[in-house]
Amino acid sequence: MTNFTALKQNVSGLFYSYSMKKIILFLAFVFCSTLLSAQNISVPSLKKHISYLASDILKGRGTSTDEEKKAAMYLATQFKRYGLLPGNKNTYLYEFTFKKNLDAHDTSTGNVPERKGNDVVAFLDNKAPYTIVIGAHYDHLGLGYDKNSRDPNPEGKIHNGADDNASGTAGVLELARYFSENNLTEKFNFLFMCYSGEELGLIGSKKWCDAPSFPLEKITYMINMDMIGRLNDSTKKLIVYGVGTSPVWVPIIDSIKSNFSIKKDSAGIGPSDQTSFYLKDIPVLHFFTGQHEDYHKPSDDAEKINYEGEASVLEYIIRVINATPNSNKLTFLKTRNVDMGKSSFKVTMGVMPDYAYEGKGLRIDGVTDGKPAAIGGLKKGDIVIKLGDLEIKDIQVYMKGLSQHKKGDTVPVKVLRDGKELELKVTF
Ligand SMILES: [Zn+2]
Repeated sequence: MTNFTALKQNVSGLFYSYSMKKIILFLAFVFCSTLLSAQNISVPSLKKHISYLASDILKGRGTSTDEEKKAAMYLATQFKRYGLLPGNKNTYLYEFTFKKNLDAHDTSTGNVPERKGNDVVAFLDNKAPYTIVIGAHYDHLGLGYDKNSRDPNPEGKIHNGADDNASGTAGVLELARYFSENNLTEKFNFLFMCYSGEELGLIGSKKWCDAPSFPLEKITYMINMDMIGRLNDSTKKLIVYGVGTSPVWVPIIDSIKSNFSIKKDSAGIGPSDQTSFYLKDIPVLHFFTGQHEDYHKPSDDAEKINYEGEASVLEYIIRVINATPNSNKLTFLKTRNVDMGKSSFKVTMGVMPDYAYEGKGLRIDGVTDGKPAAIGGLKKGDIVIKLGDLEIKDIQVYMKGLSQHKKGDTVPVKVLRDGKELELKVTF
C-alpha cells in the first residue's frame, strides 16, 4: 500500500498546477459518460431478451400455454431484478380467464373451455402524483392453430414472433431498466405491463382495464409498443398512432428533432393494446416501425430485427416522455373511429396494407397465398386505386369499400403496378 500522506506532501506543488486540471477533466468525463449512459438503451440487452422470447424454447408464446407461463416468469424475473414492485398486490402476474376456441379447425360449438392467461405488471414508485403506463403484448401465435397466421399451412410450425412482439416486450424491459436506474424522470411513476391474449383480440389489456390492479384515474397516459423491431434504415419511418388522443401530442412530437421520418396517425383505436386504454378515456401513443413480409409467419425471427434501430426508437420514446408535463393529467380527446376489427367485415382480400404509405390509394405490402387477392393476381407493391366503383383514396376508404361486399362477390380491382394501370378481378 502506498503511504498516501508522504506522497501528497511530495506532489502537493504539482498537484494544483497539473493534477487539478486532470481531475477536472476526469470529473467532466465522468459527468459526460453518466449523461451518455443515461441516454443509452442497451443493444446487447435487447438482443438477449428478443433472442430468448423468440426462441423455439418458447414455441411462439401462445396464450394459455406452458410456454406463455415460462415467458411470463422470465419477464417477472427481470422486473424483480430492476427493483420494481409487483404490480398486482404481491405478485407480478395478473391472471385472467377467457373463453375462446384456440383451434380454427375445431368446429364444435358450445362448451369452449375456460382458459387462463397472464399479464405481467410491475410498478416503479417515484412518489409522483401521476403514473405513465408503458406496455406491449408478449404473446404470439404459438404453433399456428388459430386463424391469425399468414402461412398457408401454419399448423405445428413455431411462430416465433420476434418483431411481433418480442420487440415491444424487450422495449418494456429496457425502459423499465432505464427508468429504474436513472432518476432523471422522478416526476412520474411508471407501470410497466406486458400483456397476453393480444393476438386473440386484445384480451389481456382489456381484462386489466376492466378490473385494474392500479387506479385508472392516476394514469396520465399510456405508451404502447407493438412491432418496433424492423426500422428501415433508409426510410427511417416511424409510425405513431394516437396523436389525436391529447392536445399535447402533436406539439411535443413536432418539437423533438430526430432522424426519423415520423408518420402521425390521430386514431386512438387501432389493432393493438393502446385501444383498451383509449376506451377508458386515457390518452395513448402507439409506436410501430411498419409491416413486412414475415408478419404473422413462422419466419418472424430474431436475426431479422434491427436492434440499433429499435434502440433509437426507445430513446425517442424517452424523449417524448421527458417532454410531457407532470403538473396535471394529460387532457383526453376522443378521435375519429376507424374500425379495423375483423368483426365488421364479411370478406377479406388477404393483403397486408402498407400503413406507412402516404400516396393516393392502398399500397400492398404482402399478399397471402390462397386468399382472394392472390388468386386474382394481386402482388406485393401493387397500389389499389379502385375497388368496384369506389375510388380508393386511402386505407380508410378501402376499409369502407371492403365492408360493402359479401362472400362470393366478384369485384373488379384497379391497381397501379410499376406506374401502369391494370384491372384485375377478385372473388371474395
Ligand atoms: Zn400480431
